[in-house]
Amino acid sequence: MPMITSKINSHYSMCFIFKDSELLVKAESSIELPETNILQKCFEQNHAKDWFTEADKDYTAALLEECAPTPAKHKWIRLRELFAVNAKIAPTAARALALLNWRKTSRFCGCCGGPLQDDKYETARLCSLCGNVVFPRISPAIIILVSKGDKILLARHARRNTDLYTCLAGFMEHGESIEKCAEREVKEETGIEIKNIRYCASQAWPYPDQLIIALRADWKSGELTLQESEIDDAKWFSKDNLPPIPKPGSVAYQLIHNII
Ligand SMILES: [Zn+2]
Repeated sequence: MPMITSKINSHYSMCFIFKDSELLVKAESSIELPETNILQKCFEQNHAKDWFTEADKDYTAALLEECAPTPAKHKWIRLRELFAVNAKIAPTAARALALLNWRKTSRFCGCCGGPLQDDKYETARLCSLCGNVVFPRISPAIIILVSKGDKILLARHARRNTDLYTCLAGFMEHGESIEKCAEREVKEETGIEIKNIRYCASQAWPYPDQLIIALRADWKSGELTLQESEIDDAKWFSKDNLPPIPKPGSVAYQLIHNII
């Protein structure tokens, strides 16, 4: 993995500035990144909490304080908007935000409590007291669209406080294959058994460090029996009568509309 440094160099072609997980772009364009002088102003006004560069990927990234004002002629967007327009910079933006999130929670050593510092040779944090090396964590999660004939299973999640219906999803557990995770999540949340699990696509989702693995499967057996702590409602929907679903750019939207 490449080295991270905290030096800011004005020659990098991409400048990612985040605040509260949102990305700064020029106001008149949905995906045009700010010029480096905007970041310099943030430094001068002491609004940057953390920053780093990755020279080999030609970008610099910074996380601003929550109180930092929006620079003139700029606006904040969520990464979903980059994915929705298939922007070339989306994977690098996701990486930058995930690494900023990782740095925020990797300040002290989990073994001895000593301070962590950037490693000189790779993307890692090093404990100066005990030598423990901390690498960025990636948390795999599955999202799955289950079909039964020409209907699809969509659920409203209990904890998300939204009217949206979406695909079932959950984090992988240690010792599980992707397929076992899918079978377990669907069974736990809706009581049904699935078959013909197929891989569709994957997407980095840095909120804070997920890799979303998109799957399809077919109903095998069982009636809908909802896990009340997780699922408010789940139904079989036909595609010509869908409830409110997540926005374009989300993996769920792409699964539901057969884009992936
Ligand atoms: Zn240590």
